[in-house]
Amino acid sequence: MKTEFELVSHLKKNFGFDTFKGSQEEVINNVLNGNDTFVLMPTGGGKSLCYQLPAMMLEGTAIIISPLIALMKNQVDAMRNFGEDDGVAHFMNSSLSKSATLKVKEDVIEGRTKLLYVAPESLTKESNIEFLKNIKISFYAVDEAHCISEWGHDFRPEYRKIRPIVEEIGKAPIIALTATATPKVQHDIQKNLGMLEANVYKSSFNRSNLYYEVKPKVDATKEIIKFIRKNEGKSGIIYCLSRKKVEELAETLQVNGINAVPYHAGMDSATRSGNQDKFLMEDIDVVVATIAFGMGIDKPDVRFVIHYDIPKSLEGYYQETGRAGRDGGEGHCLTFYSYKDIQKLEKFMQGKPIAEQEIGKQLLLETVSYAESAVCRRTVLLHYFGETHTQENCGSCDNCLHPKKEFQGEEYVVKALNV
Ligand code: ADP
Ligand code: MG
Repeated sequence: MKTEFELVSHLKKNFGFDTFKGSQEEVINNVLNGNDTFVLMPTGGGKSLCYQLPAMMLEGTAIIISPLIALMKNQVDAMRNFGEDDGVAHFMNSSLSKSATLKVKEDVIEGRTKLLYVAPESLTKESNIEFLKNIKISFYAVDEAHCISEWGHDFRPEYRKIRPIVEEIGKAPIIALTATATPKVQHDIQKNLGMLEANVYKSSFNRSNLYYEVKPKVDATKEIIKFIRKNEGKSGIIYCLSRKKVEELAETLQVNGINAVPYHAGMDSATRSGNQDKFLMEDIDVVVATIAFGMGIDKPDVRFVIHYDIPKSLEGYYQETGRAGRDGGEGHCLTFYSYKDIQKLEKFMQGKPIAEQEIGKQLLLETVSYAESAVCRRTVLLHYFGETHTQENCGSCDNCLHPKKEFQGEEYVVKALNV
């Protein structure tokens, strides 16, 4: 166990922060002690530091497995900016040239590299496995660990190979981190990584500054225009299911004098990233987007998130609404719900493998029962994440502020979904 003073001085020296956030200090101590660690922290909670700091303090190189090349690069750049040595952090992925890969390997062998970020598909490459077998590894960090689970929102089959590869390269403690908090996903991760005995650090997922509201989808476009006019000058995101709807709605808003742009993966990349920048730079107020928008975007003052279409899972709902109020200020989360949308989502699933369909239906069903519930939204949402919320009236959701009779039709939906 390191003294608090020692840890804080490393924190200051390597990252410029004066204090730890949330459970960071306990997590870091656990990693330094060589234990397996499981970290559940909401997005923005400060998960990266939980492996970056111990990596700087321990002997050897920490292997960081992370799914997104762009995020990897950001983190490596940030680490280098702080350190005196450019070799302190590197990444290995398919974007690197042969000579760049050689340089990385050289730095690692010389012991200069404390953090080596590896994409899961690079980790499976035989030549990389051979290389990693011969270096001193302090620990493995599996970031975005929910990618292991089919119950998570971003399943990646390569993530399932991590454990066997770790066995091949050589065992070291593992820290797995995620913001996807359902008990099912947690169990999947721990089981798959062979760390059922890990010490678990779970933060609360309650976002007390967010207001949750679900409305029947009637005249949703009109309602949205009214809502935005009432919130003039505030930043917001509107999520739609299809690219077509994104384009349509953005255009309708523009025609109505609202400063809005579309964003979806089908647009050419220059326009798309231009629109994203305009939103970040406050040149425009509203982005109408598919769920392609938001991953890794850190805009602190998003004041509302509207779901024009209901999301496919409560997990997605939590992640997307979670982009509101990052700065701790108000965040209004408004969702339009109709049974027709559920049918549409169900239709999308047809043609997928049966097991995937079953999972999809179950997730959809949970979303339906959230939307139709007359119980405190916060209570239902936190319960979904395995958390007990005991406050009788949260004071910040439609059901607490305007109690209503139970939504009709749940049974019908359950039957229609055939589960
Ligand atoms: P997560 O991966 O959990 O979403 P990040 O690791 O990206 O979160 O951190 C979110 C933000 O919090 C980053 O801007 C990071 O620099 C900042 N942060 C992390 N730890 C601390 C700390 N101890 N003090 C101040 N800021 C911190
Ligand atoms: Mg992260």
